[in-house]
Amino acid sequence: MLSVAEPVLGDDERAALAEVIDSGWITMGARVEAFEAAFASLHGMDHAVAVSSATAGLHLALVAAGIGPGDEVLVPSLTFVATVNAVLYVGARPVFVDIEDAGTPLMSIRDAARKVTDRTRAAILVHYAGYLADGPAWRAFADAHGLAIVEDAAHAAGAPGVGRIGEATVFSFYGNKNMTTAEGGMVVSQSEAVLERVRKLRAHGMTTGTFERHGGSVYGYDVTMLGFNYRMDELRAALGLVQLEKLEGWNDRRGLLTRAYRRKLRAVVPEISVPFAEIDVGAFHIMPVLVPRGVDKKKLAAEMRDCGVQTSVHYPPVHSFTFYGQLFPDVQLPVTEDFAARELTLPLHPRLDEGDVDTVVDALARCLAQQQEVADERI
Ligand SMILES: *Cc1c(COP(=O)(O)O)cnc(C)c1O
Repeated sequence: MLSVAEPVLGDDERAALAEVIDSGWITMGARVEAFEAAFASLHGMDHAVAVSSATAGLHLALVAAGIGPGDEVLVPSLTFVATVNAVLYVGARPVFVDIEDAGTPLMSIRDAARKVTDRTRAAILVHYAGYLADGPAWRAFADAHGLAIVEDAAHAAGAPGVGRIGEATVFSFYGNKNMTTAEGGMVVSQSEAVLERVRKLRAHGMTTGTFERHGGSVYGYDVTMLGFNYRMDELRAALGLVQLEKLEGWNDRRGLLTRAYRRKLRAVVPEISVPFAEIDVGAFHIMPVLVPRGVDKKKLAAEMRDCGVQTSVHYPPVHSFTFYGQLFPDVQLPVTEDFAARELTLPLHPRLDEGDVDTVVDALARCLAQQQEVADERI
């Protein structure tokens, strides 16, 4: 079975974990600091703060930006639900914004401009599939309306230039992301003040940590704000350090496979359309394609599975979930809804090769043709 995503784990990760266990220190310490420094450096930043997940990081980024009850936050609906949940965690109201179009399924500035009110305080940009939102345009928009920007870069670890738009940018190391620590996340910012707040917020609002006190450099601590326990631990940081070294190579390979997909799809199934088809920089996190309208996607996915190819959907729009539908029943996002109805995510991870890409596209062509025949027979 060719799977949509797969973590690459092996002897290096096993050895790194064993080293932590033998060291006798497993909670947040020197390895977390080293991972933060290495991650920041790879992204051209001075500092980063490791957290227990991207969800936790998004929550803290909003707290650090002072977002709370009575505030509105612009969010895409074409994202993982965690992006929007974070807004509810701080008691603010998510305002769903449509995507630009099927070729650029990123949050639309034009629609955002229609939805800004005098209560809007922030926007969360999602670099969907690992392709970056338009930095200068969003910065100008945010400045014009006095908004904070948080980048949800869960798809974009290692993407050149990521993290330059927002007051804070949040990465995910969940098992299906471009690099993994099983669970984990990272917050980067160009503002040391934001990072300092996030650093305190992730550890109960305490002024010093167990590791510092253990080292004997400080004695006691104060609590200066309502914090959380969103720390990363040494085992995850050790995994992260190993994975980070491989990230650029893996992303190059994802780029190569993406270009192979684009060529092969155009040649074999031109009726399939490919978002971001001209974009050649990014983290190439997933391979989304759009099937023609009228295709029974559920059936297509089942047939693909029978051919040994797993597919997925990124994403069922957040506003279409029962929970969000009950909270915000009147949301209509025609471009997002049409995109999500047609979207199919094909396998993309560094363990695949160009032969696998051929296998996937050939299977897709066969299964689509089968559906077409069934449809023709009905007529
Ligand atoms: C995976 C993901 C998250 C959540 O990341 P976790 O580390 O699992 O909390 C948030 N936003 C997007 C777009 C994601 O893909």
